[in-house]
Amino acid sequence: MNMQQSQLTVSNAMPTHQGRLINTNYGLINRSRMNNNDSMIDQKRRAILGGTAAAIAGLTIAPGVFLTETAHAKPVDEAISSKTRWGILIDTNNCNDCNDCVTACEEENGWGSGSEDEQNSRPDQKAQWIRTVKVTDKKTGYAKTLPMMCQHCEHPPCVDVCPTGASFKREDGIVLVDKHICIGCRYCMMACPYKARSFIHETLTDQRSYAPRGKGTVESCTMCVHRVDNGENPACVDACSSSMTFGDLNDPDSDISKELERHGGTQIRADLRLNPGVRYQGLNF
Ligand code: SF4
Ligand code: SF4
Repeated sequence: MNMQQSQLTVSNAMPTHQGRLINTNYGLINRSRMNNNDSMIDQKRRAILGGTAAAIAGLTIAPGVFLTETAHAKPVDEAISSKTRWGILIDTNNCNDCNDCVTACEEENGWGSGSEDEQNSRPDQKAQWIRTVKVTDKKTGYAKTLPMMCQHCEHPPCVDVCPTGASFKREDGIVLVDKHICIGCRYCMMACPYKARSFIHETLTDQRSYAPRGKGTVESCTMCVHRVDNGENPACVDACSSSMTFGDLNDPDSDISKELERHGGTQIRADLRLNPGVRYQGLNF
């Protein structure tokens, strides 16, 4: 399989498989550990955070949109359990390239056509939480289109390289960016083999309270964490009539697990051993 349009690259940063629990605005989460230099990097993080903490307090990223609104995605006192591993299964056999998933994400999270902002950025600079890519079999020329977004890796290199801890993975496998402490260094963009992250170049005024965004920070698919924590499907899944299934990969009785058991699934760039939470069917060529 040749990921021609997505131009996937291999990151030099390979993750470790350990984790630690940290209580944050998102609840009790598991931040993947970085490496043996962890304590040194933690010191740097504390220095950065110590220097910016006063400035962070009370910051808004747009009129009426407070950074602390991210806390609404999950009650602070409610721990998120690693018993659950949220995932999305995409059957490319049924994907007709209608773009409904992209449009739904834009509307739900207030980017692209769902926003009046980012009018001055080049097309390649604009937000891209989800996009469609074409994969081609080099031998036969057979091609398929599929939706590509943050793959919510079990071992996310974006988290490993983040110097401030802004990139983190929740206990339930959802990978997020904490806009409170993202300094916009874009290391995570370089580390992500799926090109899943975007950097905001412009001041934003038109955004959703539950999906705050901000100039100078990085963002990506949140798996619609605000909906998931409310017992709903991600917006893209609800918008797709035929090819997307959302559910708990750890629950053998969930629809997604049963479908994977019946027909199997493919991880994009499985060779990287990141164990993405997003799986695909119909790519066996
Ligand atoms: Fe991180 Fe998502 Fe990229 Fe995986 S796909 S490295 S979780 S941004
Ligand atoms: Fe972390 Fe990415 Fe923000 Fe840098 S740009 S602080 S790596 S989330």
